[in-house]
Amino acid sequence: MTRKDADTDLVLQGIAASPGICIGKAYLVDREGVEVIPKYCLLEKHVKGEVKRFKTAVQAARAHLLAVIENSPEPLQKARILDTHVHLLQDKMLYGRTIETIERERVNAEWALKTVVNGLKGAFEEMPDSYLRERVSDIVHVSELILQRLTGNEAHDIAAIDRRVILVARDLSPAETSQINLERIQGIVTDLGGKTSHTGIVARTLEIPAVVGLEQASRRIRTDDLIIVDGTRGMVIVNPTEETLAAYEEQKSLYERRRAGIAREAGREAVTRDGRRYRVLGNIELPEEVVAVINYGGDGIGLYRTEFQYMNREGFPSERELLESYRDVIEVMAPRPVIIRTLDINGDKALRPGGGDEEPNPALGLRAIRYCLKRPEVFRIQLRAILRAAVHGEVRLLFPMVSTYFEIREAKRLLQEAARSLARERIPHRGDIPVGAMIEVPSAVIIADHLAEEVDFFSIGTNDLIQYALAIDRGNRHVAHLYQPLDPAVLRLIHRTAEAARKRGIPVHMCGEMARTPLYTPLLLGMGIDDLSMNPQAIPEVKRMIRSIRLDEARALVPQVLACRTAREAFERLRQAYGGLVENGLEED
Ligand code: PEP
Ligand code: MG
Repeated sequence: MTRKDADTDLVLQGIAASPGICIGKAYLVDREGVEVIPKYCLLEKHVKGEVKRFKTAVQAARAHLLAVIENSPEPLQKARILDTHVHLLQDKMLYGRTIETIERERVNAEWALKTVVNGLKGAFEEMPDSYLRERVSDIVHVSELILQRLTGNEAHDIAAIDRRVILVARDLSPAETSQINLERIQGIVTDLGGKTSHTGIVARTLEIPAVVGLEQASRRIRTDDLIIVDGTRGMVIVNPTEETLAAYEEQKSLYERRRAGIAREAGREAVTRDGRRYRVLGNIELPEEVVAVINYGGDGIGLYRTEFQYMNREGFPSERELLESYRDVIEVMAPRPVIIRTLDINGDKALRPGGGDEEPNPALGLRAIRYCLKRPEVFRIQLRAILRAAVHGEVRLLFPMVSTYFEIREAKRLLQEAARSLARERIPHRGDIPVGAMIEVPSAVIIADHLAEEVDFFSIGTNDLIQYALAIDRGNRHVAHLYQPLDPAVLRLIHRTAEAARKRGIPVHMCGEMARTPLYTPLLLGMGIDDLSMNPQAIPEVKRMIRSIRLDEARALVPQVLACRTAREAFERLRQAYGGLVENGLEED
């Protein structure tokens, strides 16, 4: 939008959670009613009854969730978004502690639950990782479901909305968003939430535009206001001028035509004009994102980040629990490959913030494979779960943040040990799955020839490789301008890795964010990257770029780009060669 529009319309800026544009009447979802919680003390003889009342409310909340699941749109059922909530309802952390509080403090169930939730909120909100901070909302939503049953204050019935609207709310719970009827709800706008909040996941799964984290939207928008939701740019325009409205109507139809074109092509193979076929895969963090990978035409999962299952809880997940979630993903994807990355915690995803084991410099600390080698009893459970899950499809294993030769040897030794223990116990498993190393630390690039002798493939993690090569904290906005994928140092590291892989005859993948930018695709393929993996929404455009280029031409461009002295120069060189393809509707900006 132009400056002029921003001056004359009321424009709210938030976080782009699900792309697309919708224009329509706002519908405010009011969630007052559960905020004021009374406290009263109980006589000893009433404690048992209160615990029972709490348990009944939990059962009723569970029945409600199961009914919502059964009636929700099919993509959401497949995505199993509400399953976490069903589990959370009876999680020790929430359920067990509330009962303990009722018994210990002899207080009413509502108050006990609220106290427990506040304690958990405090602990989660301290977490440095935004994904985890947002998981606090799961706890809040689940507790609200129980509270509504305890207090008799029923939640808003989104399923009952009978006209086409855009939902505006302070926050929406997954139980609420799962009731969305796609014929009525055009988009979602919320005050709270971030990119990885459930509202965003649901909206992306349903492919409706969403802007979250707007802070004031539910105060500044009223029911029946005309609003424009630009989920690509993270903007909401309230009661727009005629001019803005016309401009957005046009953008909306352009966007929809483009999406329809991409959707028609999503299933097409990514073959270059000179005949080389590439696999374009998806990165996932939650099992439910598998659906998006399939919908966007992904050829498999190139990076399954497994740490999230370890973080929203006390203690570690059991082998069975891990096995079940890996199996879900593998079975849905089969026969397409699934690359499961072993635990990459600490660094920017602390395992137990506030647990007393914080490090002064976590990015350089006991992170990822280092942590796992130090805690073999934790690692072993995950390795066994992966080997067991592998019988259900095409599984590969990936070790993160390898920085020395010893680490890869040691990780493989533990893997073999896990396979032997399963064989001894006669538990079905596959002991021969391909094993890869993530190349995301400069030392790994330097010894890539040695590492290549030990693994079946490499996967370059540019998010970390850039951070460690250029000494730029990937989460620090003050140095974000220096975080350049096309920096000559980064390009040389990628090139060197690809060369080491080629010499040894093993494939090299890329699963960092760099892989998702169509303008970089020719350079990466030219340097010898075999598979690209990215967030699912980016897959169709990268596939389309691959179909538009010739590999021999891309290869010829590599020495010219590698000779550039700055990231800007490299960018200009790529833009000269391939900008036409990108600007022809391949990229938004
Ligand atoms: C990377 O570092 O590029 C990567 C893919 O892993 P993560 O972003 O999970 O660290
Ligand atoms: Mg990484």
